[in-house]
Amino acid sequence: MSSEIDNLVKTISKLKALGPKSARRIVLQLLDNKENLIKPLTKQLVEIYKNLRRCETCGDYFSVNSKCDCSNKKYKKIFVCEEIQDKWTVEESGIYSGGGYHVIGGVLPALESKKNGKLLISSLVNRVKDNKEIEEVILGLGNTAEGNITSHFIADKLKDFNIKITRLAQGISVGNSISYLDDGTLVTAFKNRGPVVSD
Ligand SMILES: [Zn+2]
Repeated sequence: MSSEIDNLVKTISKLKALGPKSARRIVLQLLDNKENLIKPLTKQLVEIYKNLRRCETCGDYFSVNSKCDCSNKKYKKIFVCEEIQDKWTVEESGIYSGGGYHVIGGVLPALESKKNGKLLISSLVNRVKDNKEIEEVILGLGNTAEGNITSHFIADKLKDFNIKITRLAQGISVGNSISYLDDGTLVTAFKNRGPVVSD
């Protein structure tokens, strides 16, 4: 194996869920498709490296060539989730349209162990404070002990605003983040969402 290929295999195998064998298969596919894969990939990776930033308000990625979606305040709901893939799951399901999203980036108290991590909870409070249109904040954190703690923490921070604070229906899949839910389960969890109550 040439050192160029070896280096690429090493880099790709750093991706979670990909071991060296899968990384080698990917690299071989890339090499066999230089024009169709390596050329566009090189361009796209450079663009992403240069232009994509994580928004310090809503936690999503946005291109520096445009404003982040959260700067638009024409929505009445904010859906709060742990990770960006949870947001994508909800977007793809079509159950929630026209509302804003807020990716806090994890759950309490795991936060304390993350050196560079910072949950975007105060920025959520500020979004609600700065936008009189908001009628509801929907909490879609994982159905875990940490998810419960975080939901209660957020609900407490928002309790003085005149808005509805709801949580996706619980008891459906304990321990899972919502990105693991199938569309039917997610739709049910949305429809049956209710107040954040003490467990
Ligand atoms: Zn944003």
